[in-house]
Amino acid sequence: MSTTPSSKLPPFDPADPLGIDDLLGAEDVAIRDTVRDWAADRVLPHIAEWYENGELPGIRELARELGSLGALGMSLSGYGCAGAGAVQYGLTCLELEAADSGIRSLVSVQGSLAMYAIHRYGSEEQRQRWLPGMAAGEIIGCFALTEPDHGSDPSGMRTYARRDGEDWVLTGRKMWITNGSVAGVAVVWAQTDEDGAGSGIRGFLVPAGTPGFSAPEIKHKWSLRASVTSELVLDEVRLPADAVLPGVTGLRGPLSCLGHARYGIVWGAMGAARTAFETALDYARTREQFGRPIGGFQLTQAKLADMAVELHKGILLAHHLGRRMDAGTLRPEQVSFGKLNNVREAIAICRSARTVLGANGISLEYPVMRHATNLESVLTYEGTVEMHQLVLGKALTGIDAFR
Ligand SMILES: Cc1cc2nc3c(=O)[nH]c(=O)nc-3n(C[C@H](O)[C@H](O)[C@H](O)COP(=O)(O)OP(=O)(O)OC[C@H]3O[C@@H](n4cnc5c(N)ncnc54)[C@H](O)[C@@H]3O)c2cc1C
Repeated sequence: MSTTPSSKLPPFDPADPLGIDDLLGAEDVAIRDTVRDWAADRVLPHIAEWYENGELPGIRELARELGSLGALGMSLSGYGCAGAGAVQYGLTCLELEAADSGIRSLVSVQGSLAMYAIHRYGSEEQRQRWLPGMAAGEIIGCFALTEPDHGSDPSGMRTYARRDGEDWVLTGRKMWITNGSVAGVAVVWAQTDEDGAGSGIRGFLVPAGTPGFSAPEIKHKWSLRASVTSELVLDEVRLPADAVLPGVTGLRGPLSCLGHARYGIVWGAMGAARTAFETALDYARTREQFGRPIGGFQLTQAKLADMAVELHKGILLAHHLGRRMDAGTLRPEQVSFGKLNNVREAIAICRSARTVLGANGISLEYPVMRHATNLESVLTYEGTVEMHQLVLGKALTGIDAFR
């Protein structure tokens, strides 16, 4: 085996130690840099204040700007969507989450959940009615699956849609719904009697303002504070026959949408981790104790080396899954693999970075603790750690341990 003389090797780049950027094309880099610049300009100067206040002011303006960037429904085609590749969508999620998980959540729910559901399972009329405005960020969407008593196991959901003549009448409650209070349209999943009780879950498009529908915001969150999270109350909400998504019946409808959103999280989590790592690296180089930078101590270097290894392994994994998605070969178990690993490692990186910063690590003056607490939500939503372990456990053993 011969090795290249070190004089001919490209220099080591602490920001990209494995040279992963070599995998990107010019258009990928252009999209990534555009989103990074937007986040630096529009999110980073304000995010600590928004987080402290538990608000996302100007969310409608931010949504319109994200629409202009082509970030909403980015990998969908037609109806004003950008038709971008999976890696480009992933890079966008990474750059947005490097700023804050709340901004990435806004984009994931809009594009990968609400728009994806309408694009994949909606009628042509429904697509024409909703998607162009959602792609432009003029209309915000939400995706309502979780209920107060049904989270990891949505099959037992109690929100129910009954037929009344041609109409549908929805009653029930949804919980923890991102974008709920600001949404112009809610994609609501409900039980119906079609296909027999229990197996007839259908998706409904509920415009905001429909009588009987309300979306009070959930307060007192210690995570994803710069994100709108809501309860949805459906009290005899009457909808026309064409409010139902005609393309799917059963849980595979919402679960397929979740698969798409989870893929974005595989990338996004590494954005939060990257910010934590960069903050720790910068701090370690300049903070002095015992007469020298703390980055000169072996124990600190061990932390930084371990963080860098997990960060760039995670980004490489995200790339690999993105290429499989573009090739049409990405399996749901592989998305579970990526979500499980990358969110778990991102939290570990944040916690390690927090220790490098000492007391400053707990301050909102630095982004590390904000990212760490955000990732607690990311660890739970779109399938908890345990759900993804069970998906992989089932795939590995052939034995279903869910029940
Ligand atoms: C900030 C935020 C935003 C969200 N946004 C949305 C949204 O937009 N739309 C939406 O529909 N939902 C949303 N969710 C809800 C999220 O998807 C659920 O919280 C998640 O699915 C888990 O459900 P749960 O909280 O009811 O926990 P539970 O399902 O009650 O689980 C509690 C614990 O038990 C474990 N557990 C459950 N079953 C098993 C089992 N068989 N084996 C081992 N362990 C098990 C879980 O892994 C978890 O650790 C959001 C949540 C948060 C925090």
